[in-house]
Amino acid sequence: MRFRLTIMSLALGVLLLAACGSASSTSISKSDESSTTESSTTTTLATTTSSTTTTTAKLPLTGKVVAIDAGHNGGNAAHSADINQLVDAGNGVTKACDTSGTASNDGYPEYEFTLSVAKDLQALLQAQGATVVMVRTDSAGWGPCITQRAKIGNDAHADIAISIHGDSNDAAGTRGFHVLVPQTTNVNAAVAPASNRFGTLLRDSFLTTGMPVSNYLGTNGIMPRGDLGGLNLSTVPKVFIECGNMRNATDASMMRSDAFQQSAAEAIDTAVVQFLS
Ligand SMILES: [Zn+2]
Repeated sequence: MRFRLTIMSLALGVLLLAACGSASSTSISKSDESSTTESSTTTTLATTTSSTTTTTAKLPLTGKVVAIDAGHNGGNAAHSADINQLVDAGNGVTKACDTSGTASNDGYPEYEFTLSVAKDLQALLQAQGATVVMVRTDSAGWGPCITQRAKIGNDAHADIAISIHGDSNDAAGTRGFHVLVPQTTNVNAAVAPASNRFGTLLRDSFLTTGMPVSNYLGTNGIMPRGDLGGLNLSTVPKVFIECGNMRNATDASMMRSDAFQQSAAEAIDTAVVQFLS
């Protein structure tokens, strides 16, 4: 009898063990639920983070300062004595305060083109949260001198500065855009590498405008310069862009159009966002 009871006890023990196993399974199942809850919480957090990121992405240039230098001015030609005054352009170069700029063969002036692109660019940058400093906002006056154009970006502690131009070359078949990047001078040494990095980004993005790279200046659309006061004297990263050859009928026709001007502004904006991201 005692032996039988022992057998029964063993049998009960096995049953209890089986029951514990079952309970254990239930416990794992609960643990899975718990994981699901955690996963759900994580998903919620991820969604929140994603939402925050999306908000930031809408304003990628918040807190950034961009200086836009629209080349030349409408009154320069009528103030030749003023714009011909010699200034120290840095890097041992002395040159005129500014020039009147060029124009297309059918009379569209460079200073109008540069201001139009500058304003389109200003709107794009501001919409993305940037603080924009404009060297000029109309074409009524003369100057400022190239020294002042650099100083405006410097004083604003701009994160990037861009000088917008149209080139002038009368040789047949010469067309396309090129980016002028600084040679290193005593003044710009700290920012010349960043300027060159931005210049490459700008060259790449500007191809989207449909304007080809220059077939007469620079290498693959990039040309280092050591004689430009706007670059030599800049203590913030800065490049110039010659958006096309205004003396070439094909380039000039593009540069007159609102569509190209907007496209040029968008290309510059893209490079700015890439550079400052
Ligand atoms: Zn120019």
